[in-house]
Amino acid sequence: GFKCGIVGLPNVGKSTLFNALTETAAAQAANYPFCTIEPNVGEVAVPDPRLDKLSEIAKSAQIIPTRLTFVDIAGLVRGASQGEGLGNQFLANIRETDAIAHVVRCFEDSDITHVEGKIAPLADIDTIETELMLADLDSLEKRVDSLAKKAKGNDKDAKEQLDLVNRALVLLRDGKPARALERKAEEERAFAMLGLLTSKPVLYVCNVEESSAKDGNNFSKQVFERAKQEGAVAVVISAKIESEIATLSREERKDFLDTLGLEEAGLDRLIRAGYQLLDLITYFTVGPKEARAWTIHRGTKTPAAAGVIHTDFEKGFIRAETIAYADYVALGGEAGARDGGKLRLEGKEYVVADGDVMHFRFNN
Ligand code: GDP
Repeated sequence: GFKCGIVGLPNVGKSTLFNALTETAAAQAANYPFCTIEPNVGEVAVPDPRLDKLSEIAKSAQIIPTRLTFVDIAGLVRGASQGEGLGNQFLANIRETDAIAHVVRCFEDSDITHVEGKIAPLADIDTIETELMLADLDSLEKRVDSLAKKAKGNDKDAKEQLDLVNRALVLLRDGKPARALERKAEEERAFAMLGLLTSKPVLYVCNVEESSAKDGNNFSKQVFERAKQEGAVAVVISAKIESEIATLSREERKDFLDTLGLEEAGLDRLIRAGYQLLDLITYFTVGPKEARAWTIHRGTKTPAAAGVIHTDFEKGFIRAETIAYADYVALGGEAGARDGGKLRLEGKEYVVADGDVMHFRFNN
């Protein structure tokens, strides 16, 4: 599955947010048996009203949403790259994630100490980003000598890697994150293999006071501006509100959100933003037994999409019976879509679209 690491300075609301996530997951666990909980890992269902609609039409006995994993990565403080706080463990945890949710304190509260002494979201972001860049710099500098030796021989891969590493070093020494590196499509794989912390896409989570949950505040506006410049994604959330919502039932939740003038829970927005950030889409498998959502990268072709369910589906892939979500709903399900000529037979080259309802044919 896809993993999103939660980082941020101490006292910005990470744990509050993470606990809300896992409480929500726990509340969902009754309905969704696949949600599991570990101390610092929360697996949450990706809310998708389309799945409810599909299960209703197919009278599915069970609904299985797709999931996104959040990992609470504590211990990032100024000096973490030098081993302050939980330094190294922190770095190992963050390396394993696909994306970073960076929680930024955008609330004023004189009772809650700010580690840097004042509320300054952009400076906070820089502090964290600097630690990550220093860690990347360190890890590349450790590798560059042995790579250079290998590249002197006739190791073509090493030459390519060395070139990439040197360019990344220039950038990092200039105080820029690795994700800003200009690179060719064919270098993408080698770049990902470097496992750099600052190469991961970032989602800024502006933690605001309750009264600003709807529209944000001046602090969150600064963060949004910065996200825009970087081509990153940002969301406004009130960790306090989320922790209250997490304890409510579905019906109570709706009422509570209404009184606050909010359309949906911030966590739902956060999960969706994570989805967007990772450029993920959903396809469905639907039948009387279950209606289920599956996550793939945008641009994935049918065999690889089938492989998410089972490797045999990918190896023996023949074709995919495919119905667009809108057609499935408009024509009242599979039989109606078939009669209406909206069930397509797609081969190996088909790029799966968000919302496709699929049925894979394969040889075993
Ligand atoms: P972490 O160190 O980043 O994990 O931060 P915590 O989640 O432990 O939060 C630190 C303190 O700030 C706790 O006392 C929280 O109750 C409080 N806190 C978190 N979010 C908010 C918020 O939106 N507004 C206010 N006033 N306090 C908050």
